[in-house]
Amino acid sequence: IDVKKIRNFSIVAHVDHGKSTLADRLLEITGTIKPGAENAQVLDQLQVERERGITVKAVTASLNYTYNNETYLLNLIDTPGHVDFSNEVVRSITACQGVIMLVDANEGIQAQTVAVYSLAKKNNLLIIPTLNKVDLPRADPAKVKSQLHSLFKIEPDSVMSISAKRGWGVKELLEAVITRIPPPSVDTKGHFRAHVIDTWHDKYRGVLCLIYIHSGKVQVGQAVKWKSDLKPHTVKFLAMLRPSEDPVEEAVAGQVVMVGCGPKAGGKVGDQLLAKEVGDDDEGSSAPPVKHMVYAGIFPADQSQHPQLSDSIKKLALNDSAVTVTPDSSPALGQGWRIGFLGLLHLEVFTQRLLQEYKAEAILTAPSVPYKVKIKGAKAIKQYKGDEVIVTNPLLLPDVKNIEEYYEPFVIGTIITPVEYIGAVTTLCHDRRGTPLPSNAVDDNMTMLQYVLPLSEVVIDFHDTLKSITSGFASFDYQDYGFHPSALVRMDILLNGILVDELSTIVHTSRLEYNARRLTEKLKEMIPRQMVQVAIQAVVGGKVLARETLKAYRKDVTAKLYGGDVTRKKKLLKQQAEGKKKMRSVANIRIPRNTFIDVLKR
Ligand code: GDP
Ligand code: MG
Repeated sequence: IDVKKIRNFSIVAHVDHGKSTLADRLLEITGTIKPGAENAQVLDQLQVERERGITVKAVTASLNYTYNNETYLLNLIDTPGHVDFSNEVVRSITACQGVIMLVDANEGIQAQTVAVYSLAKKNNLLIIPTLNKVDLPRADPAKVKSQLHSLFKIEPDSVMSISAKRGWGVKELLEAVITRIPPPSVDTKGHFRAHVIDTWHDKYRGVLCLIYIHSGKVQVGQAVKWKSDLKPHTVKFLAMLRPSEDPVEEAVAGQVVMVGCGPKAGGKVGDQLLAKEVGDDDEGSSAPPVKHMVYAGIFPADQSQHPQLSDSIKKLALNDSAVTVTPDSSPALGQGWRIGFLGLLHLEVFTQRLLQEYKAEAILTAPSVPYKVKIKGAKAIKQYKGDEVIVTNPLLLPDVKNIEEYYEPFVIGTIITPVEYIGAVTTLCHDRRGTPLPSNAVDDNMTMLQYVLPLSEVVIDFHDTLKSITSGFASFDYQDYGFHPSALVRMDILLNGILVDELSTIVHTSRLEYNARRLTEKLKEMIPRQMVQVAIQAVVGGKVLARETLKAYRKDVTAKLYGGDVTRKKKLLKQQAEGKKKMRSVANIRIPRNTFIDVLKR
């Protein structure tokens, strides 16, 4: 394959603007799949993707297309749109030279359009601005073109117009990919060198990796090594993804291909695969490290399930390289893990995948953003191995007398909203301790607002609240803004005097009373009545800030059955016992498992 005939590109857009639908059309038009009405987001293969209607994993498809009597190899990478999965986008982009940036011609520019545009610019990628859904009667291409011009200085002439659903303009778009996006600039003559953009686990073949080849070529049987450990391996499997595997004997610089080196060979996202001959140097690029936005503890419902859960988490973490997994233990929950996620949706998707793909049920603790504290006193500094500690678990906050300063993580939030909701959005951001930055008009009806916001105020339910106060018309995206000093304390929840590990939170002092009241009231609503009375208390450093009492109640599910049917009675009792297993028990009080996340939502 001639490298000049390769185009590596990705489709980026705000969620629901049509990326996966366009991918379907591109697969059809290149003969990769048969055209048909049943092709709906064919690249979204995970069960969670199909159920939620969102893309979670980036997927690659190598397409052949003939243009002006020349056959081109087009590597399409379909990416997720949700902010929680933006690291998938970041990783895909390291293998791309250009992007198709879709904008819904009816909705116009949204917050994630701004985010993906900045990302593409930062990575020097060629951008093909494209209006989608021009078939909709309310589509207004002229207006959206002028938005693109006023926010990004994009010339209206360079904007393509398509309907991914109906296939209009898709051929022209494909030709723009060939004529506008440059071929990869790679070294075809050098030793083989590639970096890993994705990994997944195969039952029989071990770890399979998607790689982007920066230099040289690779063949089945070739001797290779990982940059991270330099141990020798042999390439056993090599395939193009179309998107199903198409085995090849050889692949060259500029290509995106799947490799496997056998069950024990490993492979990690960001690592490099090198020819045996390559020296030990620092050349080559890799994806930037992932920043985790929320942490939560995951524990087996029963300690005997620890080995299975451990195995499932390991395998899933391989496919979802954005998580970090560290062992954790809790007096109440036993041995488990502390896992870092990119956001709450990411956390929910991870646990849903654990359940669906690995049949592993787990207890989840209340999610927390990471905090930072500065330690004072030589002894304490020695104990904590330094004067700064990142706290990913509120329970592990150092003793207050050793803390000199608290820091919390902030983000820059971008909100695009119709002008009539500016008042409501401003109030929301103010309530969430936001500081406004200068705003920008998108057009006569839409405005872009930016705020510096504490991450803890946006991570749980900001997006949902924003949607509901703007009737769904505002969109939101955020980027990291680092740690800044803040006034924080740890608040604990006691049930009948016993600390509930999962419900300790780190709270801004201005929020303390409000959170104490809200948490205790919500717990009272969510915990089912028990055989004994339950006192629910929120405490800070031994001082009770709020208290609720849940009255006792004896629930007998068989009361309605008048004697007689013993088997039915037994069955009901068994069902009740199983229902109890799904609960976490603290001081003999049964708490439904989803409580720990739901209780934090406003
Ligand atoms: P993604 O989140 O960007 O991958 O978006 P999807 O491809 O999943 O599309 C979101 C929704 O928009 C789906 O219901 C599609 O059927 C619909 N859609 C996508 N493209 C078009 C189009 O050109 N016209 C119309 N009318 N609907 C479209
Ligand atoms: Mg999609």
